[in-house]
Amino acid sequence: MIVVFGTVALDTTRTPFKVAERILGGSATYCSLSSKFFYRTSLISVVGNDFPEEFKKILLNNLDTTGLKILDGKTFHYDSTFDYDLSKRISNKTELNVIENFKPEVPEGYEKAEYVYVGNNDPRKNIEVLQQFDKPKLTACDTIEFWIKKRRNDVIEMIKNVNCVILNDDEARMIINSPNLVRCGRKLLELGPKFAIIKKGEHGSVFFTEDVVFPVPGYPLEEIVDPTGAGDSFAGGFLGHLARQNKLDLQTLQDSVIYGNVMGSFAVEDFGIARFLKLNINDIEKRFGNYKNILNF
Ligand code: AMP
Repeated sequence: MIVVFGTVALDTTRTPFKVAERILGGSATYCSLSSKFFYRTSLISVVGNDFPEEFKKILLNNLDTTGLKILDGKTFHYDSTFDYDLSKRISNKTELNVIENFKPEVPEGYEKAEYVYVGNNDPRKNIEVLQQFDKPKLTACDTIEFWIKKRRNDVIEMIKNVNCVILNDDEARMIINSPNLVRCGRKLLELGPKFAIIKKGEHGSVFFTEDVVFPVPGYPLEEIVDPTGAGDSFAGGFLGHLARQNKLDLQTLQDSVIYGNVMGSFAVEDFGIARFLKLNINDIEKRFGNYKNILNF
């Protein structure tokens, strides 16, 4: 089983071409709706009692939501704006609401999960969640500028508690204090994880182990609509393929990085999670095949 902990959010996303208000988003939403194409995924998160019924249905129809709590109060809300080329994001508002005092609990029986992802969230809470698992084969984390600025030491502690760290280029630079991404990758591994992945938006990603640096270009897309959640969708594809293969050898890891890029590329083709609702595993395998052809010249 894959267990995903993070935010389920109402996102307001502003691009120069359209504004989408209070649509379904959140790090856990993107990751789990991506990984569920590959393997059974269980969600641990919290929403308020303002969370729309239609969004609840999307989660219930696609995921195991035993670990999803509904509390009195407002759902986490994130408001952001993208610039003209949809590469840089400015965070306008981060309203923590019900996530602020939420005590995450891993449901009984789920502590045996083998693949665990903790996404953008309070790093202290991510550590608390990680500590509730028995012995996962792979634990992965992500974070976002908000937490690096607010809880830097906890973010570093969280990275020490996982065996795979997945970050954006800007976040990796902020944490490691170096402009060079290869150095950032190496320094992230020195903190403890066996694997590090640095994502570079439309330019792809770089996967690091102690012995390997594996750079992958971005999938060439003509239309990018909303980059929100690309990173978490990447993590979903990465963990999803590892879980369905249930192997951690280099070839499977490298294929999983490609599946991560594939899922990130689908996520950005429409607002919010809309593209995932129209997607099937054949579309994913087809794009994976195209990707491999592009890489194999
Ligand atoms: P990504 O684009 O992959 O970095 O993730 C974006 C998602 O993370 C959005 O759907 C947001 O709802 C969520 N998010 C943004 N800021 C935070 C935060 N400070 N804590 C938790 N989740 C966040």
